[in-house]
Amino acid sequence: MCSVDPDGVIEMTRATGTLDISKGDVMCRKCASAVAEVVLRVRDAYCRDCFLAYFTHKFRSTIGKSKQIHPGDRILVGLSGGASSTALLHLIREGLQESSHKKLRFDPVFLYVDECVLCGSMDEGCDHVHKVVEQVASLGFQCYVAALEQVMALQPVLPVLRTQEWKEMKHTVDENLRKKFCELFTSCKSASAQQDLHDQLLQTVLRQCAHSLGFRKMFLGDNSTTLSVRILSQVALGRGSQLPARVHFKAPSQSVEVYRPMRELLENEILHYLNLQDITVLRPPTFQPKNTSIASCTEEFVRSLQNDFPATIPTIFRTGDKLVSTTTQAEKEHDSSADSLTSDDFCALCGSTLDTEKGEASALHATVVSQKYSSKRPQEINAVPVQECGKVKSDGETSPDPGGGMCGCAKAGGDCSKTNMNVDQKWEMSKTLEQCLCYGCRVTLRDLADTGLLPAKVQATVAEQKQRKIMKEQIQDFLL
Ligand SMILES: [Zn+2]
Ligand SMILES: [Zn+2]
Repeated sequence: MCSVDPDGVIEMTRATGTLDISKGDVMCRKCASAVAEVVLRVRDAYCRDCFLAYFTHKFRSTIGKSKQIHPGDRILVGLSGGASSTALLHLIREGLQESSHKKLRFDPVFLYVDECVLCGSMDEGCDHVHKVVEQVASLGFQCYVAALEQVMALQPVLPVLRTQEWKEMKHTVDENLRKKFCELFTSCKSASAQQDLHDQLLQTVLRQCAHSLGFRKMFLGDNSTTLSVRILSQVALGRGSQLPARVHFKAPSQSVEVYRPMRELLENEILHYLNLQDITVLRPPTFQPKNTSIASCTEEFVRSLQNDFPATIPTIFRTGDKLVSTTTQAEKEHDSSADSLTSDDFCALCGSTLDTEKGEASALHATVVSQKYSSKRPQEINAVPVQECGKVKSDGETSPDPGGGMCGCAKAGGDCSKTNMNVDQKWEMSKTLEQCLCYGCRVTLRDLADTGLLPAKVQATVAEQKQRKIMKEQIQDFLL
C-alpha cells in the first residue's frame, strides 16, 4: 500500500515534555526577537504579538475564504458567555474597528439564551443575564435575550432587546413554560437522552429567534475542540447523517444559515487569547448532565487523548470535514430550489433533513422490522388504565377527549399539558410521532417517559404531517 498521505493527515506521536517558558529565556519561533509567552502543539513557542496575529488571522481567514459573508449582511451571533463565544465577541469588535482592507464589514447583533431553567435559581439567572448583556453593550453592540423554556410555546416568542430601560426591569420568565420544560426534562430516563434533547431544543430556540427577528445568517461559537467531540458523539447517538450540518462551516437549515467562524481554533488557543487580552469569561450556568452521558464520555476520551497526542483533535476535525451524507445532497437541492423539499422532509423535533427513507435493504429498515415484531400493541400486554390529568374541563366534565387527545383545560388555553388518551391512542401517537422524526431523535425519544410532554410546536407539526399524509392517501388514486 502507498505510504504517502495525500491529505496531509498529521502523524500521531505521543507528546513528550512540554516546552518550559516560565524562566523567560525562550524566544519566539516566528520573529525570534521577543520572549515567548505561549506554547502551542507542545513545543512551538510564540511571543504575544505573533500569537495574536496568528489567532486573528485564523479567525478572519475562516470567514474570508468561505466567501459566504458579504458586506452589510445582518448577522445574529449566538452567545453563551463561555470562552469561545466571549472570544468571538471580542474578535468581531476588533475586526469591525480595523481600518485596513482586513476590516470585517457585516452588521452583528447578539443573542443570549438564558438556561437558568435547568441549572440554578431564577435570581441567579437574572444576574447572569445582566452580566452578559452588560458585557455585550460595553463593546457597543445590541443584545437580545431569550429563554430556553420558550421552546415549549406554540407560537415563537420574540427575544427581548437589551436597552437601558430593560436594565432596570427584572428578567421576566413564564412560569407555565418553565414548568412544562422541567416536566419534559425530568421525564428523560437517561443522561444521554437529556443532553441530546437539550442540544436540539437549544438549537431550535436559536433558529426560532433568528427567524422571528428576520435574520438569515447566524454565527455560533463552536471551536475545533468542541466540534471534534461532537463528530464522535453524534455518530454514537445515531446522528451521523447530520454531521455536515453540525460541524461544517456553513449549515443551511430551513430558514436560517448557521456559520461557525471559530471552527479552526483550538480551545487552548482561545484560552491563551483571552488570557493575553485580559478578558473575563462570565461562564453562566449551562446544562451539565447529572450522570455520565455518551457526549460526556466522548469528551473525556478526546480530551485525555489530546493531552498525550496533540494531533488527536486536528485529525478528527479534518476527517469530519470530509464527511458528507446522502441527505446533504438533498439539502443542496433544497438550496437551489425552495420547492424541492416540503416541511414533511424535515424532522419535527430537530429540523434536520429526514434520514429515514433508506429503502428495504438498509440497516434502519432491519431495525424497524425487528422492533415491529418484538413489540406488542399495548392491549396485547394489558389494558392498564391511563393516568388522567384530573382537571375539570370548562364545561364541568372530566371525561377523556378521544378526538384531540389533549385534555379540556389544555385546549382552553389552560396550563395542563397531560393527555387524556388511552394507552392504545398513546401507542398510535408515538408511532405517528416516530415517523416524523430523524433516526437520532427516534433514539432519544425512546428514553422519554411521555412523548405528550414534547413542545407544543413539535406536536402541532406532527399532527399537520399526519393530516397531510391521510389526505395524500385519500387522493392517491386521482393523482396522475
Ligand atoms: Zn514573535
Ligand atoms: Zn431529528
